[in-house]
Amino acid sequence: MAEHPEITYIGCARCGTQIAGLDGRYACSGCGWVNEWTEGHRPLPAAGRRRPQPAPRPQQP
Ligand SMILES: [Zn+2]
Repeated sequence: MAEHPEITYIGCARCGTQIAGLDGRYACSGCGWVNEWTEGHRPLPAAGRRRPQPAPRPQQP
């Protein structure tokens, strides 16, 4: 896994403006929309407690 944040782009879910984000986390400067951090590509390093996974992923050997 890459150590550096990955810059990604998405269309704002509220106003449709294309915005950039890091690791799948976005904040629109136009309307203030932000997505859930859980939609990010990886968990926040400072997350206090783990949340149960909504669905188990298949284990890779
Ligand atoms: Zn927006």
